[in-house]
Amino acid sequence: MTGTVYLVGSGPGDPDLLTVRARRLLEEADVVLHDKLPGPEIIDLVPDGRREDVGKRAGGERTPQSETNARLVELARDGKDVVRLKGGDPFVFGRGGEEAAYLAAHDVPFEVIPGVTSAVAGPAVAGIPVTHREYASSVSVVTGHEDPTKEESAVDWAALAATGGTIVVLMGVGKLPEYTAALREAGMDPETPVALVERATWPDQQVATGTLETIVDARDAAGIEPPAITVVGAVAGERERVVEFLRNGPDPGPDANAGEP
Ligand code: SAH
Repeated sequence: MTGTVYLVGSGPGDPDLLTVRARRLLEEADVVLHDKLPGPEIIDLVPDGRREDVGKRAGGERTPQSETNARLVELARDGKDVVRLKGGDPFVFGRGGEEAAYLAAHDVPFEVIPGVTSAVAGPAVAGIPVTHREYASSVSVVTGHEDPTKEESAVDWAALAATGGTIVVLMGVGKLPEYTAALREAGMDPETPVALVERATWPDQQVATGTLETIVDARDAAGIEPPAITVVGAVAGERERVVEFLRNGPDPGPDANAGEP
């Protein structure tokens, strides 16, 4: 009997943000194939003997996608129920779509278990709503991995700037200087707030803030590294207010002590 492959989203990293289904599958699967993106707390939920790291290899280079695909098919044909655990949501920039297509082409039964994507949860845990009734009616989620100065870049930064909405960039730490410049050249206000959220919900989460003009320096000063989310737009300026509220609770106001003895 062929086993089933479950393409499971882990959420951003806090085990409390796993779905109930994901948690159950992690406990029941014969094998869990993962990389580093689900974060140490979630990976540690799976006993050593039942997991395989298909992320970076000893030499530092990535395991080729073709090897991961072939391994999924091999395990399933061996009768194993396999969890392919992916950071965030499996179909948001995680190559989950490619893995699903490969499994379908090889007649391996599979299911997709959506996860809480870092594109939305990363900003949220830093106090940033990705949409806002007053100043962000849309949100675009894009990859920052490509070089915006290349002609064949698949991301149209000028078109994104023209939406007037929030821009959320995944894989966007390294090319931050290039695409913030591209957005400014496209006419975006250099004062537009920008936030970087590294390892959102991990125990060592870090946030850096600035503007389209200052964020590269802020990144370097804070030592922000991948994985991190970039949020560009007025919503990133909401962070101060939201975070202060989360920290201190409601403003007691001038009459706070009224009525007390
Ligand atoms: N499927 C994932 C995205 C995979 S692409 C999702 O839905 O979240 C990898 C990129 O995701 C990273 O470069 C980073 O930009 C982002 N990312 C994933 N988890 C993150 C986290 N906990 N904190 C910050 N960024 C994260």
